[in-house]
Amino acid sequence: MPKPSQLTYYADERAGAIAGNLLAWYATNQRDLPWRRSRDPYRIWVSEVMLQQTRVETVMPYYERWMAQFPTPQALAEAPEEQVLKAWEGLGYYSRARNLQQAVQEVVATYDGKVPNDPAAIASLKGVGPYTAGAILSIAYNRPVAAVDGNVMRVFARLFAIADDIGRPATRRAIEALVESFIPEGHASAFNQALMDLGAMVCTPRSPKCLLCPVREQCQALETGRVGELPVKEKAKAPRPVDMVAAALWHDGRLLIARRPPEGLLAGLWGFPGRERPVDLPWERALHASIWEQYGVEIEVEAHLVDVKHVFSHLIWNLRCYTARLAPGQAIAESETVRWVRPQELAQYALPTAHQKIAAAVGMQAVNG
Ligand code: SF4
Repeated sequence: MPKPSQLTYYADERAGAIAGNLLAWYATNQRDLPWRRSRDPYRIWVSEVMLQQTRVETVMPYYERWMAQFPTPQALAEAPEEQVLKAWEGLGYYSRARNLQQAVQEVVATYDGKVPNDPAAIASLKGVGPYTAGAILSIAYNRPVAAVDGNVMRVFARLFAIADDIGRPATRRAIEALVESFIPEGHASAFNQALMDLGAMVCTPRSPKCLLCPVREQCQALETGRVGELPVKEKAKAPRPVDMVAAALWHDGRLLIARRPPEGLLAGLWGFPGRERPVDLPWERALHASIWEQYGVEIEVEAHLVDVKHVFSHLIWNLRCYTARLAPGQAIAESETVRWVRPQELAQYALPTAHQKIAAAVGMQAVNG
């Protein structure tokens, strides 16, 4: 096998047929998606960022709400970060939202609020990688640039029986070059979206619908009986499980919430106080120690409230939450990053999904209690 840095794949005589068949198929089979009803580059950009690691059905309501709240780059640029994170709440990978806002702020400051129609300018924006840049340039501006995500890599790996690991950057770059060489003149927008739709609806990871595929006649994997083997992708490391302990900490009918640091996992979101449980500490002692170290106060733990499991790409949180109160005579002052809130006010804050479940358990307890 060639070294990854030397990978080059070549289009052959099937190229014209593949492009023609794909475009004809797309004309009658394209998905009706809300962001496709416009060529507005800002709308396409937002949809592409939301769609990274997230299913189309999940994204749709978020996209509609986002566009109602931040209909233009200016509106997003001027919004408080907390409002942006709240609108993203539940979509995960929150750095996407923060990067998008920062990039849009640059578009407003530097490009008069117009998403640049220029590969170098777009690629320099925060959080905009080759895929997002390619999607905006091709879909909104019809420029012949590839937009290669996991779906497109799978389709091309099968069409050309490419057995290199698609997780490697060199394979991605080589497939990008190959896709780009296929884009028919004047049809970049439709061609790239046709590939996305083919990967999402026909050439799916498991059980691809080869009988219905518009490019089955040109598919090398089908011809050689290797559809099930391709694409090749080395398994990612399994996420590491960690125990997390937290408190629904009450005082005078209010709950303590704290804002997470501006960098790192779930940066800038609010949550119930707590931390990772050291392996050698029992749960409740770990909670006492955590609150003491963070706020210098004693608490009285009352009851086990709820257990929540949350899977990130690299971590699995096994989060156990207790209801607790400040011990008599103890106090925690409010600040920029620490608030005492009534349970019904929790909905105003952007909480990670695991902490939303704690908030729901607090609400249930209030109803039942
Ligand atoms: Fe994918 Fe099957 Fe079509 Fe080949 S024939 S591109 S494997 S759906």
